[in-house]
Amino acid sequence: MTNPDVIHETIILGSGPAGLTAAIYAGRSRCCPLLIHGIQPGGQLTTTTAVDNFPGFPEGIDGPDLMENMRRQAERFCARFVEGEVTRVDLQERPFRIWTGEEMYRCLSLIITTGASPKLLDLGNEEALYGRGVSVCATCDGFFYRGREVVVVGGGDTAMEEAVFLTRFASKVTVVHRRDSLRATPVLADRALTHKAINFIWDSVLTEILEDSAGVTGIRTRNLKTGNENELACDGVFIAIGHRPNTELFLNQLEMDDDGYILTRNGTETNISGVFAAGDVQDHQFRQAVTAAGTGCMAAIQAERFLDNLPYDSTLSCKKGICMPKG
Ligand code: NAP
Repeated sequence: MTNPDVIHETIILGSGPAGLTAAIYAGRSRCCPLLIHGIQPGGQLTTTTAVDNFPGFPEGIDGPDLMENMRRQAERFCARFVEGEVTRVDLQERPFRIWTGEEMYRCLSLIITTGASPKLLDLGNEEALYGRGVSVCATCDGFFYRGREVVVVGGGDTAMEEAVFLTRFASKVTVVHRRDSLRATPVLADRALTHKAINFIWDSVLTEILEDSAGVTGIRTRNLKTGNENELACDGVFIAIGHRPNTELFLNQLEMDDDGYILTRNGTETNISGVFAAGDVQDHQFRQAVTAAGTGCMAAIQAERFLDNLPYDSTLSCKKGICMPKG
């Protein structure tokens, strides 16, 4: 059981690039931060194979390796990691309280990096085919489809951006959208609609992703107006039907936009002083590992400045990230 008297200087929720970068910076600058992560640490990058666009890796690096490197780097600066599913958070009183089931943790500052989860089609084999033809990130994986045929699912800004981006690599891009008009903003929609290499299948949903032992071989679609079913051969399926920020724990406590992303200002500050949000949980626009890492760094620096102004002695009474009140 956790010691209820212990007050941590900084707790970080989430272990993607934002959380791990926050842990590196918080670990270097003050006491050991405590990072709480779920059963699949590493965030969305662990679902992609090669990461080609993270600066510093000219040959690229596997997503899981990148996250493992970040974790080891954070551990070098005495960040501590605990596994647990956070079930409840109370930000109304200080110290803030966080529960993982029966365990309760208290902290003076909290960095939220719980990320966002891509919405899936619930076809059964999507997750199993990650890295073998199914992707939720064209920027991450498009490069691997050079000269191949791909499908993009969705009719929003992300789907249109991904479709246009994929034309740099793929020989053919087909967008499957469930209606006969796009949700995307006109400028992005027009760019895709007028692109010679992009075809559209309207009013249709995927009913199946076809596969063999090597990965994706095609899709089966159903036209929602006619009921007709069709098959289309392809090498990759990019699902771009939106993301869901992982913010349920903070409902009615933190200010969020209409889509549930945490609102931040002046960097990573939330509406509660001492609570910071970084990475995809507060960013629906860029969603890149490097931008998440950047905001994780900002959150740790802002948390440190916040802690500096609190009546706690971080040099004398702080042992292994555990803080006691001054005096
Ligand atoms: P989105 O706007 O929610 O669009 C999701 C698309 O997927 C919609 O076309 C939707 O169809 C479709 N969809 C949802 N669930 C589906 C399902 N189960 N089966 C089939 N299709 C499904 O998501 P987004 O495109 O990721 O954009 C999210 C936010 O980020 C938006 O505010 C967007 O403007 C913003 N964004 C901006 C930029 C930019 O400005 N450059 C780039 C990317 C994203 P319906 O249309 O029928 O609902």
